[in-house]
Amino acid sequence: MNHVKYPKIFEPLDVGSLQLKNRIIMGSMHTGLEDSAKDIHKLAAFYAERARGGVALIVTGGYSPNKTGWFLPFSSKLTSSREVSRHQIITGAVHQAGGRIALQILHAGRYAAHPLAAAPSAIKAPISPFRPWAMSDRKIQSTIQDFAKTAELAKKAGYDGIEVMGSEGYLINEFVTPKTNHRKDKWGGSLENRIRFPTEIIRQIRGRVGPDFVIIYRISLLDLVDQGCSFDEVIVLAQSLERAGVSLLSTGIGWHESRVPTIATDVPRAAFVWATEALKKKIQIPIIAANRINAPEVAEQILAQGQADLVSMARPFLADPDFVMKAQQNKADEINTCIACNQACLDHIFKRQRASCLVNPRACYETEILYKPALTKKKIAVVGAGPAGLSFSVVAAQRGHQVSLYDSAAEIGGQFNLAKKIPGKEEFHETLRYFKRQLELQKVKLNLGQTMTSAELKAMDYDEVVIATGIRPRRPQIPGLEHPSVVLYPDLISGRVPVGKVIAIVGAGGIGFDTAKFILGTTENHSNSGPVAIQNFLKIWGVRQDLGPEGTLQRKATPKSDKKIYLLQRKAGSLGQNLGKTTGWIHRSFLKDSGVEMLGGVEYLAIDGSGLKIRRQDKEMILTVDQIVICAGQESLRDLHNELQVLGQSVHVIGGADKAQELDAKGAIRQGSLLAASL
Ligand code: FAD
Ligand code: NAP
Ligand code: SF4
Repeated sequence: MNHVKYPKIFEPLDVGSLQLKNRIIMGSMHTGLEDSAKDIHKLAAFYAERARGGVALIVTGGYSPNKTGWFLPFSSKLTSSREVSRHQIITGAVHQAGGRIALQILHAGRYAAHPLAAAPSAIKAPISPFRPWAMSDRKIQSTIQDFAKTAELAKKAGYDGIEVMGSEGYLINEFVTPKTNHRKDKWGGSLENRIRFPTEIIRQIRGRVGPDFVIIYRISLLDLVDQGCSFDEVIVLAQSLERAGVSLLSTGIGWHESRVPTIATDVPRAAFVWATEALKKKIQIPIIAANRINAPEVAEQILAQGQADLVSMARPFLADPDFVMKAQQNKADEINTCIACNQACLDHIFKRQRASCLVNPRACYETEILYKPALTKKKIAVVGAGPAGLSFSVVAAQRGHQVSLYDSAAEIGGQFNLAKKIPGKEEFHETLRYFKRQLELQKVKLNLGQTMTSAELKAMDYDEVVIATGIRPRRPQIPGLEHPSVVLYPDLISGRVPVGKVIAIVGAGGIGFDTAKFILGTTENHSNSGPVAIQNFLKIWGVRQDLGPEGTLQRKATPKSDKKIYLLQRKAGSLGQNLGKTTGWIHRSFLKDSGVEMLGGVEYLAIDGSGLKIRRQDKEMILTVDQIVICAGQESLRDLHNELQVLGQSVHVIGGADKAQELDAKGAIRQGSLLAASL
């Protein structure tokens, strides 16, 4: 076995009774499979696949220690011996696969979405509809005991440790932070009083589970809310937890209600590790770095520079269960990289759907989506090497089919070649790197620069033809659309047409927003890694790096730009309502801070040399712009499919060619993979 490339990652570490075989931990993720007993085998298969992939330790999604701590009514909890046998299915599957697993104990506090919600003080969270009950002293004492009982039950169920969730603005974090703890008794006021609750939880857990059982505490390193803890306070908390018996400190950044992005694709890689490094210097126990770490070289660098003892990744294990094994075998170029889009994981969870992954639709569907060897090997042509055609080709070839992939462009990727040029979407390069490598590995015959016709395809005598030709941008009916100031978004983003100075963007969907970011992107926040990108990012979002007695937020710096942008839509109301649930606010906030004027309820009247004439709130006006970028949605390119059907060819259509409306890469990749699994 070759460990040369990432030697630090593959150094084992002893923690309590546990020997961790490497330094990579799969961080806690709620998948939606935790909440129902009937899904337990699916959850076990999900974890077991990751354990087989070589990760040292898995941390489960959060399980509540009592009903008030439920995230949603009847969501996951571990509170009685009756539930132990169900958990043994999980621990058994993980151990059999050679892995280790810890149970996360999470009390949702004021983020609980039900009327039993409880918190140190009765202060409603801005992101929750429920005002929590202020906990009595008795309730606090019994909650501490509940944490300890759940830890004991976890040990009985065969878990290798537990993680106490003390970050992200949940109950424990609410006790520690002055913003949410206004109590006047021994649980509030001074720092000593505020950290009493977590310290007591750890002390009691340690008492119940014995000296060697692994206790991880997820500490809120940077609250990133007004009146959050100062870093000096975080140090005092960490040292108190260490004395109380914590074995490992895991790090959390920001609360759910923070208005600073912490894991989205706009966040540069490893953007918060400097804070982990600062805390590491103040404690003796090992500390785990997290947030936007998605590549082995990033993990290796963190470990080699002594910024942390372990690295936690969560979403990267949805994207690729074999991440660690591939790194160990020096096959990092085969890793299916998490692009931090949140589209199929967090966005699903916040919509109460099962989590999955945009780049790996099998995530959390391990027992349902199977890529079995094909019984009849077929000769298949795929037209279009965008996300739909690529995912189809790779899975079909992996199953044993003989696949020829055609694209008229000179490179694979389709619209992803535009997406990767958007500032903050640099990770899309990784998906294209992954697919390029998989095409080689699966021996897909790639034919670039070939625009296929139905007659050619029919003459080639394929068993099946798959049409994945994508879309054409919609040209709205606006008088003057032929004016030279008008440009379609692909021409602008590809660089075929230079960017103007004063620009109107017609259409404010995902692509309208991305186009605005592209226009602004020549200035700051234009790279996804490296110290300059991190510093720019922290300045723009108002995160202070001078850790000490102050809070962790400061005034945001205004992003610089010499462009004036109007972003327009016909619908009344605010723009960007259909953007991702967990990321839309980031785009809206960034454009607002950059001075982009966002106008809804617009009627487009005409385009001419004076600019774009519009009507809004019954008033006509001219936007004096020198460029008008059309981002008004798309129409399917499916002519080939229709023609081949007429010619009697067995033909399928996927991705944008099938459905342009609301089609995104998540749908395209999933549809491609599922069709390939079925042929
Ligand atoms: P396409 O990507 O359009 O690929 C079609 C391919 O077919 C092209 O390569 C084309 O050259 C080829 N082709 C067409 N006709 C022929 C022919 N006759 N012969 C040979 N080849 C042919 N989606 C998300 O989910 N998240 C995002 O964050 C996101 N951001 C985006 C940002 C931008 C700027 C853009 C433009 C799109 C973004 N999308 C995003 C949308 C996503 O890229 C598309 O949904 C996805 O690419 C559709 O995949 P597809 O394979 O169906 O089609
Ligand atoms: P979209 O989200 O459907 O938005 C199209 C925009 O054009 C809307 O603002 C619409 O608003 C406007 N429009 C529609 N018809 C029009 C017409 N005839 N005249 C003028 N305006 C018109 O499509 P998109 O922005 O092109 O995105 C395409 C797909 O890519 C989407 O599915 C999207 O999810 C995906 N994508 C996702 C992301 C992401 O970050 N997740 C980013 C980019 C793209 P009005 O009708 O109100 O004017
Ligand atoms: Fe990563 Fe996007 Fe997959 Fe979530 S959906 S795991 S963010 S690639």
